[in-house]
Amino acid sequence: MQVDLLIQARWIIPVEPAGVIHENYSLVVDDGKIIDLLDTASAAQKYQPRALENLDQHVLIPGLINCHTHAAMSLLSGIADDLPLMDWLQNHIWPAEQKWVSESFVRDGTDLAIAEMLRGGTTCFNDMYFFPDIAAQQAVEHGIRANIGLIVFDFPTVWAENADAYLSKALDLHERLRHERLITTSFAPHAPYTVSDEPLRKMLTFADELDLTIHMHVHETRHEVDEQLKKNGQTPLQRLHELGLLTPSFMAVHMTQLSPDDIRFYAETGGHIVHCPESNLKLASGFCPVAACMEAGINVALGTDGAASNNDQDMLAEMRVAALLAKGVSGNASAVSAMQALQMATLNGAKALGLDDKIGSLAVGKAADVVAIDLSDVETQPVFNPLAQLVYAASRHQVSDVWVAGKRLLNKRQLTTLDLQDLRQRAAVWQQRLAGF
Ligand SMILES: [Zn+2]
Repeated sequence: MQVDLLIQARWIIPVEPAGVIHENYSLVVDDGKIIDLLDTASAAQKYQPRALENLDQHVLIPGLINCHTHAAMSLLSGIADDLPLMDWLQNHIWPAEQKWVSESFVRDGTDLAIAEMLRGGTTCFNDMYFFPDIAAQQAVEHGIRANIGLIVFDFPTVWAENADAYLSKALDLHERLRHERLITTSFAPHAPYTVSDEPLRKMLTFADELDLTIHMHVHETRHEVDEQLKKNGQTPLQRLHELGLLTPSFMAVHMTQLSPDDIRFYAETGGHIVHCPESNLKLASGFCPVAACMEAGINVALGTDGAASNNDQDMLAEMRVAALLAKGVSGNASAVSAMQALQMATLNGAKALGLDDKIGSLAVGKAADVVAIDLSDVETQPVFNPLAQLVYAASRHQVSDVWVAGKRLLNKRQLTTLDLQDLRQRAAVWQQRLAGF
């Protein structure tokens, strides 16, 4: 049988079924989709591929899903560090954004982030930033999958002048992107403290009508929870629940401030958590009790957050930190196993985005979003267990090849849709502009 692509790999970790690691296995791709997974000897007999890739030192995994980022903020990486969230936001990030964020900023910043993400094995990102139309356009141009946040704030920004304008721009952009093959959209109200009840109610009506997910920073810091409690005696979560936002279509990002009662209550809503351990650690925001949340049945996905608070878009590193931090926070070395960390970075992200019928695992019928990691480096030898090497030892420089919907976007470390020299030049121009902001 003729097929587009046959990838022969030393190992394949399909993520579904959980815990399975195939050795000397092949992945068969046709028309952008996975059509078979079988042992390499049988694959060679059964299929005549138009392209054959032999990755005999590599492990294949589903493309990583960065379930929370502000891609264009890559241009602000390293601009203000070692500060707590509100000081960092109010005195550094927001003023810089107010002065500099424009369509060209978002174009160049998103491109920089897409290059970094692809080179690190990320094939899908869940974005929340100004000019989401530009972010979507860049994702389409470079062939990466993206869920684009239709942002909502109370106050004017470069994107819109008031809550109603954010909502009408959101509806317009959703309509424009509806037929893009690699793009989906979510409503992305920034946070409980930046969006008031009325716009949230209106947004929810539209989200229900259009069957859109909602992506929001929630319980990021103690300060956020205390301020809301002072206002009306409710936690932000209680307020969002009263407004009707907490459903299986809701993604709560961060969730570092959770009591055992909060965890039980949130689990019942069916909402998802997007855990961003590096950002939480860097801003000293607190720790999401991931092990307890998973135990309660909550789906926990993983994100890097924007590069201004991380400072990278490295999902392999995020997986490792998530696994290590969960053990430290829970006092249990079995909390968040290597397999669970990989699930968080793949299938759980797909579930949070409502895309688990299309991506998140290497399963027949799903899109061929595939990443190969070369474990032949001495740093990841010997390989008793490719999963343990992947999560606890490998670095993103070992990501050799990346496909999205069967299209090769990284070929032996070379990007196929972005030019590194051009990216360096554009980053340098912004560095100069922003230097004295
Ligand atoms: Zn964020």
